[in-house]
Amino acid sequence: MTATILDGRALAKTLRAELRAEIQAFTDAAGSAPTLAVVQVAGDAASDRYARSIRKSCDEVGITFAHQPLPADTTQEALETTIRELSADDRVSGILLQLPLPAGLAAAGAVAQLDPLKDVDGVHPTSAGLLVQGLPCLIPNTPAGGMELLRRNGIALAGKRAMVVGRSNIVGKPMALLLLQQHATVTIAHSRTLDLAAVVREAEIVVAAVGRAGLITGAMLRPGAVVVDFGINVLADGAIVGDVDFVSAAEVAGAITPVPGGAGPVTNVMLLRNVLQAARALVL
Ligand code: NDP
Repeated sequence: MTATILDGRALAKTLRAELRAEIQAFTDAAGSAPTLAVVQVAGDAASDRYARSIRKSCDEVGITFAHQPLPADTTQEALETTIRELSADDRVSGILLQLPLPAGLAAAGAVAQLDPLKDVDGVHPTSAGLLVQGLPCLIPNTPAGGMELLRRNGIALAGKRAMVVGRSNIVGKPMALLLLQQHATVTIAHSRTLDLAAVVREAEIVVAAVGRAGLITGAMLRPGAVVVDFGINVLADGAIVGDVDFVSAAEVAGAITPVPGGAGPVTNVMLLRNVLQAARALVL
């Protein structure tokens, strides 16, 4: 293997320690800790695990975790009322609506009730619009984590050709905008892109946000490319792998995020950082 490993676990540990100190200072000055409300409609085991993991992360850095469980038969109206009430509640700094919602509930309608100042997941259209315009906003956690990994590893972006594979509103598109803000020349690929290998080979920075195990192989990469793999794919044997075939890619890339242990752990800290950012904005 020749590539440098972009170690997300180590970076997350550093970031958590920095954040803990910042949150302590905020709490001392404001008189109360930042508070994250997590709205969770019952019925999804993965969502339960995620809620537990967020609670643990909040505890570690000094954020108050306020769980807002709703029954599986919650109506759209009740869900929207809950989010509206949390948006109006001065004690709540940030709100996370756990997705996906059960069939019959519309995420867009629920998200629309969020106060954009409390949108710590960066899912509200106002957050997306601010990001497009390069204005201060709460940035979606996964791309924010990817950018932090690049920045803290000293990877230069200005003038570099960057390829983002995937165009979802929560990962691919915001990542492309963040790379553009840092003056990379950005291309976005998606399921209709013709000859993915040819366009990936052009890039000095390759970001995978697809959800297809091993879609990007070492043979597709330009030698020395920096690879950020957001993919989380669970194989039949339970193993978790990214969208990039790590073994072949690490022979060609200059630097690469492993899966697990790359972007995932940093994503989690970016949520916490957004809670602090939202809390600061509310006391201004
Ligand atoms: P989506 O399913 O919303 O988007 C996937 C994107 O990949 C789409 O834009 C789709 O194109 C594109 N795509 C699908 N097949 C291909 C293909 N063969 N070639 C090129 N592009 C293709 O996924 P998300 O953005 O939500 O998530 C992407 C991955 O990141 C998933 O593995 C997910 O688990 C992971 N993830 C990781 C997080 C982390 O913390 N690390 C957090 C969130 C997600 P089209 O638009 O044309 O359909």
